[in-house]
Amino acid sequence: MNYYALIPAAGTGERLGGQTPKQYLLLGGKPMLFYSVRRLCASPRIKGVYVVLAGGDERFSQYDWKAFAGKLTPLFCGGETRAASVLNGLVAAKTDIGADDWVLVHDAARPCLSAGLLNKLLDELGDDNVGGLLALPVADTLKRADGAERVSRTEPRERLWQAQTPQMFRYGTLVRALQAMQNAQVTDEACAIEGLGLQPQLVVSDVRNLKVTHAQDLQLAELILTSMEKA
Ligand code: C5P
Repeated sequence: MNYYALIPAAGTGERLGGQTPKQYLLLGGKPMLFYSVRRLCASPRIKGVYVVLAGGDERFSQYDWKAFAGKLTPLFCGGETRAASVLNGLVAAKTDIGADDWVLVHDAARPCLSAGLLNKLLDELGDDNVGGLLALPVADTLKRADGAERVSRTEPRERLWQAQTPQMFRYGTLVRALQAMQNAQVTDEACAIEGLGLQPQLVVSDVRNLKVTHAQDLQLAELILTSMEKA
């Protein structure tokens, strides 16, 4: 049984950077995608890392990925949605990965994954029947808004978690789950697995594994990466 990682990086995600897809926005002089690739490739427990890129991606080859040769495989088979990109990537990698092997799916938009959190996920789920994900219990009070951004009510936050990545499931189960949910709204792998009636395990993460969505997240990510390099 082996561990593989797959990074969906085929989004157009132009909200943040004008013409540049999010995964290629520069952080500390490197494209955001670099940090997820580096973290996952550096783990001796992970056998191979796949990056799913858009079919017409012309940016990937403009950067130097030689340091990850032998471990990193780009797949130019991104889909319309994140779930479609993940499924296309898994199918493209099927000659390498066994049905019982673990696959960790990690967003290119989460550049600050620490080695400690990655190892915690692998340690806590390696023997699990289902697999699971890094996640964080909701800390803030939650408000449900009406159409005019006025509060209609306060939602109880007990037992609510924010899902992060990596999300780690068996290859065969994950392919089956994503294929079964192809016409549904699936924003993460766990959701597809839940569709099979399975219950992914939540592994407590931390806020530093943030998802870069807004301009201020980029600055925060840069600060976190700098502090991680000093530690
Ligand atoms: O846009 P969002 O932050 O939800 O994207 C999460 C991840 O999924 C990003 O790494 C993005 O590049 C990827 N993605 C993809 N294919 C799509 C849409 C998003 O690989 N069609």
